Amino acid sequence: MSASCGLCDRDLEHGYLCERDTLALAGRLERLPALFEELAVHLVPRRSGFGEHVSSGPAGSRSPLNVDVIDLRQGGIALVLESWRADVQRVRWPDHGAPPVEGGMDRRVTVACRWLGMELEWIAAGYPAAGDLALEVREMEGAALSIVGEPPPRPQRLGLCVAVTDDAGTVCGAVLSRLPGGPVRCRWCGTAYRTEQDLLLLRHYQPKASA
Ligand SMILES: [Zn+2]
Ligand SMILES: [Zn+2]
Repeated sequence: MSASCGLCDRDLEHGYLCERDTLALAGRLERLPALFEELAVHLVPRRSGFGEHVSSGPAGSRSPLNVDVIDLRQGGIALVLESWRADVQRVRWPDHGAPPVEGGMDRRVTVACRWLGMELEWIAAGYPAAGDLALEVREMEGAALSIVGEPPPRPQRLGLCVAVTDDAGTVCGAVLSRLPGGPVRCRWCGTAYRTEQDLLLLRHYQPKASA
């Protein structure tokens, strides 16, 4: 009977998960508890700093709490891991009852990861849903890393918009900022500063006090 890896589809002599994906899954299960704890820190979205709220985006556009973090922390990760653990146990030891669930979320994630990690050899060899388990763990790690992983890009403040907005020569004067490497466009008057020349002029015409 020919077999293939449930995650990457490569041919296997036996089992349900290739060695590479088994090792990757082991690493993820090892890292996930710390990542899960780290998530708690990001429950409140980071701001660019006190006093910069006005320039960092349209007012009221952000929820005071990070909904993605709540989803992952309140159940998400722990419940998914525990349901996999229960299913592995059901397949491997049909006579055992479901494993007990105790403690806070951090502890539950740690316990479930450790349990799955210890059973990994059997999971790769004998658990038909191993590929789905590996995929789901990979996706959860990705979701958590997208929140925790890289430091969030901070808007760079470039100065005040120097576009003239009417026939009377009124200068826009709105604060200009951009994400690192991103385009520069005034949110107020819509003027885009596209070229090096535009940016040089912008710098040149800055009122002295804002430097
Ligand atoms: Zn594979
Ligand atoms: Zn402007």
